[in-house]
Amino acid sequence: YQAVQYDRPLIERVVTVTGKKIENASNFWVKIGTPIKDLVEEVGGLPEGTRKIVNGGPMMGKAIKNTDVPVTKGTSGILIISEDEASRQEAKNCIRCGQCVFVCPMGLEPHLLMNLSEKGLYERAASEDVMTCIECGSCSYVCPSHRPLLDYIRFGKSIVKKLNTSKN
Ligand code: SF4
Ligand code: SF4
Repeated sequence: YQAVQYDRPLIERVVTVTGKKIENASNFWVKIGTPIKDLVEEVGGLPEGTRKIVNGGPMMGKAIKNTDVPVTKGTSGILIISEDEASRQEAKNCIRCGQCVFVCPMGLEPHLLMNLSEKGLYERAASEDVMTCIECGSCSYVCPSHRPLLDYIRFGKSIVKKLNTSKN
């Protein structure tokens, strides 16, 4: 609305900073470029035992190594996760339950895309539409074998993107 009505570019946005152990979880209206470090300070700093800092939401956000990075237009929130919440269960073999296929909003076969990326079969992954994955994380969330589906799919996508760029 602001872009169309007032010719105003996106220069600020709302960022939620939260986490179970955060003292003063808050929403901030900040300029793009604001250091994430400053927002974390505002909510009481990183609690002891912090294991992960996620830039974005719990499903689609990406872990960041530290808070010395700026807010970008995609920074919907900063999620601070403690050691006990972040622990991943050990990945087991695929039991072919089909849950990942059932939940995929894009009609993909996440178990297949993961296998193709794991085995380096990127051309085949491309032909199986890996690039249409919207990285919602639903497949990883429901997998009873705790398989890191999205991690491998993201990796496969990055390689396919590079391959496509080098062809053009
Ligand atoms: S992350 Fe990708 S493959 Fe997995 S459910 Fe979402 S769209 Fe489908
Ligand atoms: S949800 Fe997990 S176990 Fe089930 S088919 Fe998909 S990858 Fe295999």
